[in-house]
Amino acid sequence: MPFNRPLIIFVLALVVALFALGRRSDQNDQTVSRSRLVMGTVVEITAIGSDSDRVAAAVVEAFVEMERIERLMSPHLAQSDVARLSAATGPLEVTPETAEVVALGLQVALASGGAFDLTLGRLKALWDVEGEQPQIPEAAGIGRALLGIGPRALQLQGQQVEKADPLLAVDLGGIAKGYAIDRALALLQRSGVGSASINAGGDLRLLGDRQGRPWRIGIQHPRKAGQLLATLELTDAAVVTSGDYERFFEQDGVRYHHLFDPRTGYPAKLCQSVTLVAPNAMLADALATAVFVLGPQQGLALLEQFPGAEALVVAADGSRQVSPGLESRLQWR
Ligand code: ADP
Ligand code: MG
Repeated sequence: MPFNRPLIIFVLALVVALFALGRRSDQNDQTVSRSRLVMGTVVEITAIGSDSDRVAAAVVEAFVEMERIERLMSPHLAQSDVARLSAATGPLEVTPETAEVVALGLQVALASGGAFDLTLGRLKALWDVEGEQPQIPEAAGIGRALLGIGPRALQLQGQQVEKADPLLAVDLGGIAKGYAIDRALALLQRSGVGSASINAGGDLRLLGDRQGRPWRIGIQHPRKAGQLLATLELTDAAVVTSGDYERFFEQDGVRYHHLFDPRTGYPAKLCQSVTLVAPNAMLADALATAVFVLGPQQGLALLEQFPGAEALVVAADGSRQVSPGLESRLQWR
């Protein structure tokens, strides 16, 4: 059979052209990285794309979106959904965004038997762990702050939220940051960004991979400042860590941190840190807090109800437990 030389030459030329195009577009990829203070944390957004102006504009929009979510869910702004809810004496219509967060929060609250709780606003204010001069509150005050709380203390119907007790104060601090990260990531994706990471003080979400390779994420050692406990290799995932080592005070040699056990009104005692990997950051955020309160054993059992959720737990005694799906992606340091 005679060779069809023009055809072969055409095919070869096409292969070479496509190869060159592929390489060129890789080389043209620009990485845009920006930081801003949002929700009391330094947020760093890194996005990769071929048109750097477009990517940079998308990154700015992503920050603006996170700031918008902060204004809806901050307890300190009188007009926020959360502040209005805490002040409400009857049913209240909230934004679709807040309704979405409350819906998932209530799901995790119920699944965790109340270890995760959206009604700890009074308890958080009482402890004021991040305040100027925090101290252990009196037992009677803690008792009062816990009155009426629980996974059934809020009812959600559509966009309407109703508190079982008008005195309850709502706190979305254990879930709102994750939601803001997810919203920002969706915006980047809509702007055509295929590869990005959003890091809000160690709570992060990854879009795609990093030039054909997984992202490599360092997990902070809960007792050795500046040292890594492990690294994780991940694509398209959220990684959120709840720990007792960043927001805390010490009194008489005991550490009091900001993750409360709703059963006692005191900081939860069973973990040093929980790193939660899940398909989105809102779920990872809520589950990290829930697993921290429940402890390694019950916490890892809870994750079986949430497909795609995996965890690395450092227990109070420093021992480590990893859920089965995470082992192959984890390297100890
Ligand atoms: P960080 O905000 O430091 O990243 P988390 O996501 O774990 O940490 O959230 C901590 C916040 O969650 C606390 O500051 C408080 O607002 C809220 N919180 C504390 N205990 C609970 C709990 N048991 N259930 C739900 N939210 C909680
Ligand atoms: Mg959380």
